[in-house]
Amino acid sequence: MFGKNKTIKHLNIGEDVFIDIVPVSLFKTNSIFIKSIKTKDAVLIDPGAEGEVILKEMEKFGDFNLKYIIATHAHLDHIGHVGFFKEKFPNAQFLLHEGDLFFLTENPFSRFAKRIKAYPCPIPDRFLKEGDIINVGNLSFEIIHTPGHSPGSICIYEPNISLVITGDTLFKGSAGRTDLIFGNEENLRASIKKLLERLPDETTVLPGHFSITTIGEEKKNNSFINRIYSENASCPLHDSF
Ligand SMILES: [Zn+2]
Ligand SMILES: [Zn+2]
Repeated sequence: MFGKNKTIKHLNIGEDVFIDIVPVSLFKTNSIFIKSIKTKDAVLIDPGAEGEVILKEMEKFGDFNLKYIIATHAHLDHIGHVGFFKEKFPNAQFLLHEGDLFFLTENPFSRFAKRIKAYPCPIPDRFLKEGDIINVGNLSFEIIHTPGHSPGSICIYEPNISLVITGDTLFKGSAGRTDLIFGNEENLRASIKKLLERLPDETTVLPGHFSITTIGEEKKNNSFINRIYSENASCPLHDSF
């Protein structure tokens, strides 16, 4: 399923799709490049740091037309190098849910910002909302608003290739933390329930950190989800993200 490289992964899913996953910064945020092979239209999701490394990877596999840069939410480990890509690709539209706009001016991770040489984040070209469809070549990405980890967290679902990109909402085995500014555990529970009710079990889950999984696997093995559905629900939060 994955390429030979130890850290950078290529996900083979669908004939017309190229997916490159580059974990960046000490947080190993999954920066995700998706290209339609036929049309060369492409989208970059969560370029949190190491813009040069991500760009090199993108260029390795031929021409592309970067149409969109999308952030699953605006924590710095997901948007730190959006500015780098906006400089290189001024025609690419930067898309974000409006609920996280305040993070762009109020930076809660300033020491981390220095460490990753973060770029000032540009103002989004457009705000995303529940139900929006973002077309990239033959791919249609549906925006699912999943607040909880942050007010403007989204998941990005492509039903034809059965893939959901979950940012810091859902991880393999756990869920995003809710103790950061404007995090909300009730909302996170509701968002994860919404995902589980809506997405088929075979859907591949590509989270903002850690490994790939599936919705079905998480229904069985995810401790946060098990606790949502158990009666004495006390929810341990993921201790890192
Ligand atoms: Zn986050
Ligand atoms: Zn994160």
